[in-house]
Amino acid sequence: MTQVIRKLGIMGGTFDPVHYGHLVAAEGARREFGLDRVIFLPSGTPPHKDPREVTSAEHRYMMTVLATLSNPYFDVSRVDIDREGVTYTVDSLRILHEQYGDSTELYFITGADAILEIVSWKQPDKLLELAQFIGATRPGFSLDRVPKPMQEWLNKYPQRVHFIRVPALAISSTDIRERVKAGDSIRYLVPEPVEHYIRRHNLYRQSI
Ligand code: NAP
Repeated sequence: MTQVIRKLGIMGGTFDPVHYGHLVAAEGARREFGLDRVIFLPSGTPPHKDPREVTSAEHRYMMTVLATLSNPYFDVSRVDIDREGVTYTVDSLRILHEQYGDSTELYFITGADAILEIVSWKQPDKLLELAQFIGATRPGFSLDRVPKPMQEWLNKYPQRVHFIRVPALAISSTDIRERVKAGDSIRYLVPEPVEHYIRRHNLYRQSI
């Protein structure tokens, strides 16, 4: 019997590489918002990044699959990486909304810093019509530091944007890439299969 999905989490990120902070954030959001499932959505060609500075989508996808395999509530989507050209979140949400139908509520989860830029994304009002947003905050993050215009915009959608604290987000993908490049250990920062994958494919050894 197929499971009815009333609340679907969509964990958006570059995942270069995916790490325990992301996994703890997704699990925290799942439990706090009663999500039936969380789909990880590795980004394709994001509008705000130079594609030459991001590891290939297939490597990022594979690492995300390896990291999420053991959690029956997690899945990984190719919706962004199989799309040609620049991938905007509003288009990804439209596709997922069509796939799952009106009876499934969408919750887009990502880093709080990314969410604070949302007014500069394509069709920000449409984004909040299609999904609720959950910003996962790193230790030290404070909403008091959010610029006033952004705060006012967020106030327009009081029930649609939420923030959750994720102490494990002291881990960051940037730090992991730097550690690998410097020959330092990343043990216990990423799941073991991801660590093996990075080593086997010689990722992050030099600047991309
Ligand atoms: P980013 O700018 O690389 O990251 C911003 C911060 O958020 C970083 O500290 C990052 O830490 C953290 N972060 C990213 N994804 C996270 C997640 N799922 N959970 C917890 N922390 C996370 O962000 P990005 O990964 O490129 O973009 C985030 C999402 O926003 C993606 O789905 C992207 O497609 C979407 N986005 C859409 C638009 C648009 O439609 N115009 C524009 C920008 C972003 P780590 O490096 O450790 O992950």
